[in-house]
Amino acid sequence: MTTNAPACGWDQAVFRCGRCGSVHATTEDDYLKAVDAHGDAHAVWDRLNPTERDGLASILRTILAAPGLAVELLALADRQQADSQ
Ligand SMILES: [Zn+2]
Repeated sequence: MTTNAPACGWDQAVFRCGRCGSVHATTEDDYLKAVDAHGDAHAVWDRLNPTERDGLASILRTILAAPGLAVELLALADRQQADSQ
């Protein structure tokens, strides 16, 4: 008998957040990571005021649209900090 199903565990797990209704469909391996990351996102979001939320969302959209940009921005920030010392 052959089967593609794993010997144990799930093929796919679905996590629905009780606070925002966000749904993540993921493999068993990634399930706990997805839940953790989503909980962390709520924790960060809860600490921000509306202005900070707008700013952070804008920054993340820019950075996530351009892989490598975050690394270069951090390098610039570090260089500027070193120059000002
Ligand atoms: Zn949520």
